[in-house]
Amino acid sequence: MVMDSDTPTPAKSTTLGSATYFDGTSSRRRMVTLRLAERLEIEGEQSLAAWIYADIRRADSPAGMLRLSCLSAPALARLEVRDKELANELVSRCTKIDDHMIGRRGVAAIVGWSLAAAASIVAVVLFGLPLAADRLTPLVPEAFERRLGDVADSQIKTMFDAKVCDNAAGQKAFTKLITALRESAGLDTSVQSGVLSSSLPNAFALPGGKVYLFNGLLAKAENADEIAGVLAHELGHLKHRDSMRAMIHNGGTSFLIGLLFGDITGSSALIFASRTLVTSSHSREAETDADSFAIDVMHRLGRPAKPTGELLLRVTGKEGKGLSIISTHPLSEDRLARMSRQDPPASGPPLLTSEEWRSLKSICDGKS
Ligand SMILES: [Zn+2]
Repeated sequence: MVMDSDTPTPAKSTTLGSATYFDGTSSRRRMVTLRLAERLEIEGEQSLAAWIYADIRRADSPAGMLRLSCLSAPALARLEVRDKELANELVSRCTKIDDHMIGRRGVAAIVGWSLAAAASIVAVVLFGLPLAADRLTPLVPEAFERRLGDVADSQIKTMFDAKVCDNAAGQKAFTKLITALRESAGLDTSVQSGVLSSSLPNAFALPGGKVYLFNGLLAKAENADEIAGVLAHELGHLKHRDSMRAMIHNGGTSFLIGLLFGDITGSSALIFASRTLVTSSHSREAETDADSFAIDVMHRLGRPAKPTGELLLRVTGKEGKGLSIISTHPLSEDRLARMSRQDPPASGPPLLTSEEWRSLKSICDGKS
Protein backbone atom coordinates (compact mmCIF):
# COMPACT_ATOMS: atom_id res chain seq x y z
CA MET A 1 0.00 0.00 0.00
CA VAL A 2 1.30 3.46 -0.80
CA MET A 3 0.91 6.09 1.85
CA ASP A 4 2.03 9.66 1.46
CA SER A 5 3.39 10.75 4.79
CA ASP A 6 2.71 14.42 4.03
CA THR A 7 -1.02 13.99 3.86
CA PRO A 8 -2.98 14.08 7.08
CA THR A 9 -3.84 10.70 8.52
CA PRO A 10 -7.01 9.60 6.80
CA ALA A 11 -10.11 8.64 8.75
CA LYS A 12 -9.91 5.15 10.11
CA SER A 13 -12.13 3.62 7.44
CA THR A 14 -10.28 5.30 4.59
CA THR A 15 -7.50 3.51 2.78
CA LEU A 16 -5.23 5.02 0.17
CA GLY A 17 -3.45 3.30 -2.66
CA SER A 18 -2.30 3.75 -6.22
CA ALA A 19 -3.61 2.28 -9.42
CA THR A 20 -3.80 2.77 -13.17
CA TYR A 21 -6.99 4.28 -14.52
CA PHE A 22 -8.60 4.39 -17.96
CA ASP A 23 -11.61 6.68 -18.02
CA GLY A 24 -13.36 4.72 -20.80
CA THR A 25 -13.72 7.70 -23.12
CA SER A 26 -10.11 8.33 -24.10
CA SER A 27 -7.22 5.92 -24.48
CA ARG A 28 -5.22 7.87 -21.91
CA ARG A 29 -3.66 5.88 -19.13
CA ARG A 30 -3.43 7.67 -15.81
CA MET A 31 -1.65 6.91 -12.58
CA VAL A 32 -4.18 7.67 -9.88
CA THR A 33 -4.63 7.58 -6.15
CA LEU A 34 -7.49 5.50 -4.83
CA ARG A 35 -9.25 6.62 -1.70
CA LEU A 36 -11.40 3.90 -0.20
CA ALA A 37 -13.96 6.08 1.52
CA GLU A 38 -17.77 5.92 1.38
CA ARG A 39 -17.20 5.32 -2.30
CA LEU A 40 -14.08 4.44 -4.21
CA GLU A 41 -12.68 7.85 -5.05
CA ILE A 42 -10.30 8.01 -8.00
CA GLU A 43 -7.99 11.00 -7.93
CA GLY A 44 -5.34 12.27 -10.32
CA GLU A 45 -4.37 15.93 -10.45
CA GLN A 46 -7.98 16.42 -9.49
CA SER A 47 -10.86 14.15 -8.55
CA LEU A 48 -11.67 11.96 -11.58
CA ALA A 49 -14.50 9.68 -10.53
CA ALA A 50 -16.15 8.05 -7.55
CA TRP A 51 -17.35 4.48 -7.96
CA ILE A 52 -20.04 2.94 -5.78
CA TYR A 53 -18.68 -0.31 -4.33
CA ALA A 54 -21.82 -2.27 -5.18
CA ASP A 55 -21.43 -1.29 -8.85
CA ILE A 56 -17.84 -2.46 -9.14
CA ARG A 57 -17.18 -5.66 -11.07
CA ARG A 58 -14.13 -7.76 -11.72
CA ALA A 59 -12.88 -7.67 -15.32
CA ASP A 60 -10.64 -10.25 -16.95
CA SER A 61 -7.00 -9.57 -16.15
CA PRO A 62 -3.58 -11.18 -16.24
CA ALA A 63 -2.37 -12.90 -13.07
CA GLY A 64 -1.04 -10.57 -10.40
CA MET A 65 -3.40 -7.76 -11.28
CA LEU A 66 -6.93 -6.87 -10.21
CA ARG A 67 -8.79 -5.16 -13.04
CA LEU A 68 -12.11 -3.52 -12.30
CA SER A 69 -15.01 -2.01 -14.19
CA CYS A 70 -18.04 -0.20 -12.83
CA LEU A 71 -21.70 -0.48 -13.86
CA SER A 72 -22.31 3.22 -13.36
CA ALA A 73 -19.16 4.34 -15.21
CA PRO A 74 -18.52 4.31 -18.98
CA ALA A 75 -18.47 0.70 -20.20
CA LEU A 76 -14.77 0.76 -21.06
CA ALA A 77 -13.56 2.49 -17.89
CA ARG A 78 -11.04 0.31 -16.04
CA LEU A 79 -8.95 0.42 -12.92
CA GLU A 80 -5.87 -1.76 -12.60
CA VAL A 81 -4.54 -2.53 -9.16
CA ARG A 82 -1.26 -4.37 -8.67
CA ASP A 83 -0.79 -3.90 -4.94
CA LYS A 84 -1.99 -7.15 -3.43
CA GLU A 85 -3.02 -5.74 -0.08
CA LEU A 86 -4.98 -2.94 -1.73
CA ALA A 87 -6.59 -5.43 -4.10
CA ASN A 88 -7.72 -7.57 -1.16
CA GLU A 89 -9.13 -4.55 0.63
CA LEU A 90 -11.05 -3.56 -2.51
CA VAL A 91 -12.42 -7.04 -3.06
CA SER A 92 -13.69 -7.12 0.52
CA ARG A 93 -15.56 -3.83 0.02
CA CYS A 94 -17.02 -4.63 -3.41
CA THR A 95 -19.71 -7.01 -2.31
CA LYS A 96 -20.97 -7.76 -5.80
CA ILE A 97 -17.64 -7.93 -7.55
CA ASP A 98 -18.29 -11.38 -9.06
CA ASP A 99 -22.05 -11.11 -9.51
CA HIS A 100 -21.81 -10.99 -13.29
CA MET A 101 -19.51 -13.97 -13.63
CA ILE A 102 -21.41 -16.75 -15.26
CA GLY A 103 -18.46 -18.16 -17.10
CA ARG A 104 -15.94 -20.53 -15.62
CA ARG A 105 -15.43 -18.54 -12.43
CA GLY A 106 -19.13 -18.29 -11.71
CA VAL A 107 -19.91 -21.93 -12.32
CA ALA A 108 -20.41 -22.61 -8.64
CA ALA A 109 -22.84 -19.75 -8.35
CA ILE A 110 -25.01 -21.00 -11.14
CA VAL A 111 -24.95 -24.69 -10.36
CA GLY A 112 -27.63 -24.32 -7.71
CA TRP A 113 -29.76 -22.40 -10.12
CA SER A 114 -29.17 -24.92 -12.87
CA LEU A 115 -30.33 -27.76 -10.68
CA ALA A 116 -33.51 -25.86 -10.01
CA ALA A 117 -33.79 -25.12 -13.71
CA ALA A 118 -33.21 -28.74 -14.62
CA ALA A 119 -35.99 -29.76 -12.30
CA SER A 120 -38.18 -27.15 -13.91
CA ILE A 121 -37.37 -28.42 -17.37
CA VAL A 122 -38.83 -31.72 -16.30
CA ALA A 123 -41.86 -29.69 -15.34
CA VAL A 124 -41.87 -28.22 -18.85
CA VAL A 125 -42.26 -31.65 -20.30
CA LEU A 126 -44.97 -32.51 -17.83
CA PHE A 127 -46.92 -29.27 -17.66
CA GLY A 128 -45.94 -27.23 -20.70
CA LEU A 129 -44.06 -24.00 -21.04
CA PRO A 130 -46.21 -21.28 -19.51
CA LEU A 131 -46.02 -22.85 -16.12
CA ALA A 132 -42.31 -23.44 -16.51
CA ALA A 133 -41.77 -19.79 -17.34
CA ASP A 134 -43.58 -18.83 -14.15
CA ARG A 135 -41.51 -21.24 -12.12
CA LEU A 136 -38.20 -20.41 -13.70
CA THR A 137 -38.39 -16.64 -13.74
CA PRO A 138 -37.87 -16.11 -10.01
CA LEU A 139 -34.87 -18.43 -10.17
CA VAL A 140 -32.98 -16.54 -12.86
CA PRO A 141 -30.15 -14.59 -11.22
CA GLU A 142 -30.27 -10.85 -11.73
CA ALA A 143 -26.82 -10.70 -13.32
CA PHE A 144 -27.85 -13.34 -15.83
CA GLU A 145 -31.04 -11.49 -16.64
CA ARG A 146 -29.03 -8.32 -17.21
CA ARG A 147 -26.76 -10.10 -19.66
CA LEU A 148 -29.77 -11.49 -21.52
CA GLY A 149 -31.21 -8.01 -21.63
CA ASP A 150 -28.01 -6.65 -23.17
CA VAL A 151 -28.11 -9.30 -25.88
CA ALA A 152 -31.80 -8.71 -26.58
CA ASP A 153 -31.12 -4.99 -26.64
CA SER A 154 -28.55 -5.16 -29.42
CA GLN A 155 -30.60 -7.70 -31.37
CA ILE A 156 -33.66 -5.51 -31.29
CA LYS A 157 -31.73 -2.44 -32.41
CA THR A 158 -30.41 -4.47 -35.35
CA MET A 159 -33.72 -6.13 -36.23
CA PHE A 160 -35.70 -2.91 -36.23
CA ASP A 161 -32.80 -0.85 -37.56
CA ALA A 162 -33.39 1.42 -34.61
CA LYS A 163 -30.97 3.91 -33.12
CA VAL A 164 -31.15 5.59 -29.75
CA CYS A 165 -32.50 9.12 -30.22
CA ASP A 166 -30.63 11.52 -28.04
CA ASN A 167 -30.73 15.09 -29.17
CA ALA A 168 -29.95 17.13 -26.09
CA ALA A 169 -33.23 18.95 -25.42
CA GLY A 170 -35.32 15.85 -26.16
CA GLN A 171 -33.16 13.64 -23.99
CA LYS A 172 -33.40 16.12 -21.12
CA ALA A 173 -37.19 16.09 -21.31
CA PHE A 174 -37.28 12.29 -21.57
CA THR A 175 -35.01 11.92 -18.55
CA LYS A 176 -37.23 14.25 -16.54
CA LEU A 177 -40.31 12.25 -17.47
CA ILE A 178 -38.85 8.80 -16.85
CA THR A 179 -37.24 9.87 -13.58
CA ALA A 180 -40.57 11.12 -12.20
CA LEU A 181 -42.24 7.86 -13.26
CA ARG A 182 -39.45 5.66 -11.97
CA GLU A 183 -39.51 7.33 -8.58
CA SER A 184 -43.28 7.12 -8.39
CA ALA A 185 -42.97 3.44 -9.32
CA GLY A 186 -40.44 2.80 -6.55
CA LEU A 187 -37.79 1.53 -8.96
CA ASP A 188 -34.10 2.30 -8.50
CA THR A 189 -31.67 4.03 -10.83
CA SER A 190 -30.65 0.78 -12.51
CA VAL A 191 -33.58 1.24 -14.90
CA GLN A 192 -32.31 2.10 -18.38
CA SER A 193 -34.59 3.65 -20.93
CA GLY A 194 -34.64 5.60 -24.12
CA VAL A 195 -36.45 6.47 -27.32
CA LEU A 196 -35.59 4.43 -30.41
CA SER A 197 -35.89 5.65 -33.98
CA SER A 198 -38.50 3.28 -35.38
CA SER A 199 -41.79 4.23 -36.94
CA LEU A 200 -43.61 1.33 -35.26
CA PRO A 201 -46.05 2.61 -32.65
CA ASN A 202 -44.76 0.56 -29.76
CA ALA A 203 -43.09 0.48 -26.39
CA PHE A 204 -41.61 -2.48 -24.58
CA ALA A 205 -39.57 -3.67 -21.64
CA LEU A 206 -36.55 -5.97 -21.85
CA PRO A 207 -35.10 -8.28 -19.21
CA GLY A 208 -32.55 -6.66 -16.98
CA GLY A 209 -34.31 -3.35 -16.44
CA LYS A 210 -34.65 -1.70 -19.85
CA VAL A 211 -37.65 0.18 -21.18
CA TYR A 212 -37.83 1.51 -24.73
CA LEU A 213 -40.26 3.73 -26.53
CA PHE A 214 -40.38 3.69 -30.32
CA ASN A 215 -40.60 7.10 -31.92
CA GLY A 216 -43.66 5.92 -33.87
CA LEU A 217 -45.73 5.91 -30.70
CA LEU A 218 -44.34 9.25 -29.56
CA ALA A 219 -45.33 10.72 -32.93
CA LYS A 220 -48.96 9.72 -32.35
CA ALA A 221 -49.11 11.10 -28.81
CA GLU A 222 -50.69 14.47 -28.10
CA ASN A 223 -49.46 15.15 -24.60
CA ALA A 224 -47.00 13.97 -21.97
CA ASP A 225 -49.63 12.13 -19.89
CA GLU A 226 -50.40 9.82 -22.82
CA ILE A 227 -46.77 8.74 -23.10
CA ALA A 228 -46.18 8.75 -19.34
CA GLY A 229 -48.88 6.12 -18.83
CA VAL A 230 -47.35 3.91 -21.53
CA LEU A 231 -43.92 4.16 -19.92
CA ALA A 232 -45.45 3.48 -16.50
CA HIS A 233 -47.12 0.38 -17.96
CA GLU A 234 -43.74 -0.86 -19.23
CA LEU A 235 -42.17 -0.12 -15.84
CA GLY A 236 -44.89 -2.38 -14.46
CA HIS A 237 -43.76 -5.21 -16.75
CA LEU A 238 -40.24 -4.55 -15.62
CA LYS A 239 -41.12 -4.64 -11.95
CA HIS A 240 -42.98 -7.91 -12.42
CA ARG A 241 -40.17 -9.37 -14.58
CA ASP A 242 -42.70 -10.16 -17.31
CA SER A 243 -40.09 -9.86 -20.06
CA MET A 244 -37.91 -12.51 -18.50
CA ARG A 245 -40.98 -14.72 -18.28
CA ALA A 246 -41.90 -14.01 -21.90
CA MET A 247 -38.39 -14.74 -23.04
CA ILE A 248 -38.41 -18.15 -21.40
CA HIS A 249 -41.91 -18.81 -22.66
CA ASN A 250 -41.39 -17.65 -26.26
CA GLY A 251 -37.87 -18.97 -26.57
CA GLY A 252 -39.13 -22.48 -26.03
CA THR A 253 -37.27 -25.50 -24.83
CA SER A 254 -34.15 -24.84 -26.88
CA PHE A 255 -33.85 -21.54 -25.07
CA LEU A 256 -34.14 -23.29 -21.73
CA ILE A 257 -31.46 -25.73 -22.72
CA GLY A 258 -29.32 -22.80 -23.86
CA LEU A 259 -29.80 -21.27 -20.43
CA LEU A 260 -28.58 -24.45 -18.83
CA PHE A 261 -25.52 -24.92 -20.96
CA GLY A 262 -24.21 -21.45 -21.10
CA ASP A 263 -23.79 -19.92 -24.50
CA ILE A 264 -27.10 -18.34 -25.24
CA THR A 265 -25.70 -15.28 -26.95
CA GLY A 266 -25.59 -16.80 -30.41
CA SER A 267 -28.68 -18.90 -30.02
CA SER A 268 -31.35 -18.58 -32.66
CA ALA A 269 -33.86 -19.27 -29.93
CA LEU A 270 -32.80 -16.05 -28.27
CA ILE A 271 -33.15 -14.08 -31.49
CA PHE A 272 -36.65 -15.42 -31.81
CA ALA A 273 -37.36 -14.63 -28.19
CA SER A 274 -36.04 -11.07 -28.53
CA ARG A 275 -38.27 -10.44 -31.47
CA THR A 276 -41.33 -11.69 -29.68
CA LEU A 277 -40.63 -9.30 -26.84
CA VAL A 278 -41.57 -6.54 -29.24
CA THR A 279 -44.21 -8.20 -31.40
CA SER A 280 -46.17 -10.57 -29.24
CA SER A 281 -47.99 -10.34 -26.01
CA HIS A 282 -47.63 -11.04 -22.38
CA SER A 283 -50.43 -12.92 -20.73
CA ARG A 284 -53.64 -11.03 -20.28
CA GLU A 285 -53.15 -11.18 -16.56
CA ALA A 286 -49.69 -9.62 -16.86
CA GLU A 287 -51.19 -6.85 -19.00
CA THR A 288 -53.92 -6.13 -16.50
CA ASP A 289 -51.36 -6.01 -13.71
CA ALA A 290 -49.15 -3.64 -15.70
CA ASP A 291 -52.16 -1.40 -16.36
CA SER A 292 -53.03 -1.31 -12.67
CA PHE A 293 -49.44 -0.49 -11.91
CA ALA A 294 -49.48 2.35 -14.47
CA ILE A 295 -52.73 3.74 -13.10
CA ASP A 296 -51.24 3.80 -9.58
CA VAL A 297 -48.01 5.39 -10.74
CA MET A 298 -49.91 8.14 -12.57
CA HIS A 299 -52.30 8.80 -9.71
CA ARG A 300 -49.44 9.06 -7.23
CA LEU A 301 -48.07 11.81 -9.46
CA GLY A 302 -51.46 13.46 -9.47
CA ARG A 303 -51.89 12.76 -13.17
CA PRO A 304 -54.72 11.02 -15.05
CA ALA A 305 -54.42 7.57 -16.59
CA LYS A 306 -57.20 8.10 -19.12
CA PRO A 307 -55.04 9.85 -21.77
CA THR A 308 -52.99 6.67 -22.15
CA GLY A 309 -56.13 4.68 -22.87
CA GLU A 310 -57.06 7.30 -25.45
CA LEU A 311 -53.65 7.05 -27.08
CA LEU A 312 -53.90 3.27 -27.30
CA LEU A 313 -57.35 3.51 -28.80
CA ARG A 314 -56.22 6.16 -31.31
CA VAL A 315 -53.26 4.05 -32.41
CA THR A 316 -55.13 0.83 -32.77
CA GLY A 317 -58.60 1.87 -33.83
CA LYS A 318 -61.50 0.11 -32.22
CA GLU A 319 -60.52 -3.15 -33.83
CA GLY A 320 -57.30 -3.46 -31.94
CA LYS A 321 -55.48 -4.81 -34.98
CA GLY A 322 -52.10 -4.20 -36.49
CA LEU A 323 -48.53 -4.46 -35.41
CA SER A 324 -48.45 -2.08 -32.52
CA ILE A 325 -48.42 -1.84 -28.80
CA ILE A 326 -52.04 -2.91 -29.20
CA SER A 327 -51.60 -6.21 -30.97
CA THR A 328 -49.44 -6.97 -28.00
CA HIS A 329 -51.76 -5.02 -25.76
CA PRO A 330 -55.28 -5.82 -26.88
CA LEU A 331 -58.68 -4.76 -25.60
CA SER A 332 -58.16 -1.04 -25.76
CA GLU A 333 -61.75 -0.08 -25.10
CA ASP A 334 -61.82 -2.21 -22.00
CA ARG A 335 -58.56 -0.72 -21.00
CA LEU A 336 -59.73 2.81 -21.67
CA ALA A 337 -62.75 2.16 -19.50
CA ARG A 338 -60.52 0.86 -16.75
CA MET A 339 -58.14 3.77 -16.96
CA SER A 340 -60.97 6.31 -16.91
CA ARG A 341 -62.81 4.73 -14.03
CA GLN A 342 -62.35 6.80 -10.89
CA ASP A 343 -59.68 8.83 -12.63
CA PRO A 344 -59.40 11.83 -10.32
CA PRO A 345 -58.94 15.28 -11.81
CA ALA A 346 -55.27 16.18 -12.26
CA SER A 347 -53.93 17.34 -8.90
CA GLY A 348 -50.20 17.35 -9.65
CA PRO A 349 -48.24 19.69 -11.91
CA PRO A 350 -47.82 18.67 -15.56
CA LEU A 351 -44.99 16.16 -15.91
CA LEU A 352 -43.44 18.26 -18.68
CA THR A 353 -43.80 21.92 -19.66
CA SER A 354 -45.19 22.47 -23.13
CA GLU A 355 -41.71 23.38 -24.30
CA GLU A 356 -40.26 20.17 -22.86
CA TRP A 357 -43.04 18.20 -24.52
CA ARG A 358 -42.17 19.74 -27.88
CA SER A 359 -38.52 18.85 -27.30
CA LEU A 360 -39.45 15.28 -26.46
CA LYS A 361 -41.59 14.99 -29.59
CA SER A 362 -38.59 15.95 -31.72
CA ILE A 363 -36.04 13.81 -29.86
CA CYS A 364 -35.47 11.72 -33.00
CA ASP A 365 -35.15 14.62 -35.41
CA GLY A 366 -32.11 13.99 -37.54
CA LYS A 367 -32.26 10.19 -37.13
CA SER A 368 -33.83 8.12 -39.85
ZN1 LIG B 1 -47.94 -4.59 -21.71
